[in-house]
Amino acid sequence: MLFLSGSRDSVIATLPLPGVVCVNCRMPGTLTGLVISRYRHLFWIPAFSFGKTSISTCRHCKQVLPFREMSAAYQLPMQAAQYEARIPLTHFTLLLLLAAYTIISLSITWFEQRKLAQAPATDETTIQPTAPTTIAGLRYKVNVTDDGRQYGLIEVTAMTADSVEYRMTGILKGALTPASATQALHDSVALTNAHQRVLLQQWQYSLDRGFFKRL
Ligand SMILES: [Zn+2]
Repeated sequence: MLFLSGSRDSVIATLPLPGVVCVNCRMPGTLTGLVISRYRHLFWIPAFSFGKTSISTCRHCKQVLPFREMSAAYQLPMQAAQYEARIPLTHFTLLLLLAAYTIISLSITWFEQRKLAQAPATDETTIQPTAPTTIAGLRYKVNVTDDGRQYGLIEVTAMTADSVEYRMTGILKGALTPASATQALHDSVALTNAHQRVLLQQWQYSLDRGFFKRL
């Protein structure tokens, strides 16, 4: 992927220097100081600022001087202006977006974990009464692609009070019928997937989330 990245300068403050004489053309009152924020951009979106610098320009002779080449008479007022000028927050757009994204992701993870940690307490009341009802023999479909054209099948082979044992096919394509399901669950199950076992709570969690659906 091509990343278009680079750095840009943006004027964040302008300061006329009325009492200062241009060192080049000797004209008084022709100088202007500019405070500049230099920032890095990615696809022209400001990512972060490196900091501030300043330049002086002369209206008369057009001489432009960076801060380090200015005479002391220029530097003093420019130093103050540079100190006062604020780098706009927009020069940190990508950094701020990244920070916001990280905070949101962490919050979501935290909430999910908290929900999972609380789940056993609530699940016990909802699952326990139904636990004795065996689901062995039931079949489920797992969509691999969103449109469901590629999918996998799961068949529950056994069930205990706290776990579910199942077999799972590889990725399947084509029309799904009871006959094709039976054949796939017979022919398309890898040896390692013939006796899978998962905790009942995890099974219920996946089912509630719609990771797979009953046939
Ligand atoms: Zn000049």
